[in-house]
Amino acid sequence: MTAKRPYLEALGIPLWLPRQTLAIHPQPINAPLPPAGEGLGERTEEAVRLPQSQPLPDSMMNPNEPESFPADDWTPPIDDDWEPVSELDDADFAPPPAMSREARIAGMDWEELTAEARQCQACGLCTTRTQVVFGVGDRRAEWLVIGEGPGADEDQQGEPFVGRAGKLLNPMLLAIGIRREQAYITNIVRCRPPENREPTLEEAAQCRPFLERQIALIRPRIILAMGRIAAQNLLNTDTPIGKLRGQAHRFGPARIPVVVIYHPAYLLRSPREKRKAWDDLRLARRTLAAEPVNVDGRPTDP
Ligand code: URA
Repeated sequence: MTAKRPYLEALGIPLWLPRQTLAIHPQPINAPLPPAGEGLGERTEEAVRLPQSQPLPDSMMNPNEPESFPADDWTPPIDDDWEPVSELDDADFAPPPAMSREARIAGMDWEELTAEARQCQACGLCTTRTQVVFGVGDRRAEWLVIGEGPGADEDQQGEPFVGRAGKLLNPMLLAIGIRREQAYITNIVRCRPPENREPTLEEAAQCRPFLERQIALIRPRIILAMGRIAAQNLLNTDTPIGKLRGQAHRFGPARIPVVVIYHPAYLLRSPREKRKAWDDLRLARRTLAAEPVNVDGRPTDP
């Protein structure tokens, strides 16, 4: 460095030199310096010299401040507008009320939501599940498909609609021009009900905050409710599926259209009903085409 210094100076390049190391522990200003090479290393007189105190400019002085430090019996002047607080009760010091589970989940991003769902123990299904089946697909999808709950295959693989019903769902979506990975697919409950029984209302209610947060994050333009359980839970009704299908319903403050379709598992058992499912898929496509969109292509805000 010493050899290069004249060249750097001639070129006008400023030199950056290491700072002097200062003591980490406060030292009195007049503490004797340790012998060279001990303790404080390179500390020099200059490194610990403090700047001379300067009087503050008048503009920064408080005109009410006494010139010298007040005597012990000095009491602060009472401001006329100031009133002492006479009584504080415990409520003034109480911690803010704990946030409800629903409110916490409603504020989560995808990462937090997935983590919360994976360790959820809000209902008894957590004791029999192999894993949580959270949802799959495009998180910006226009089409949201909601089924009932994971079956044995889904419970094993951790993905909704991968068993026999899923094998029919995929071509149903393709028939209206949607590849599976273009949609987002989830269920009313995220854990498999044992013996493939229907999820109870309580189980569906405990899982609802996850579903609502997924819908809020995705902001789909249309929802397909697959089967009676999905439709009745989502629309909060006990109207039979035969009456729910064939028309568009609305969900939530964004009034997202919901079209109810027979569940693929039911269609496998009753293939003659496929005709109605096809009608409902076309209804969904028409409904979406007629929906107004925002500048960002999502549902119009409420
Ligand atoms: N049936 C459903 O309703 N959902 C699945 O994920 C699988 C089968």
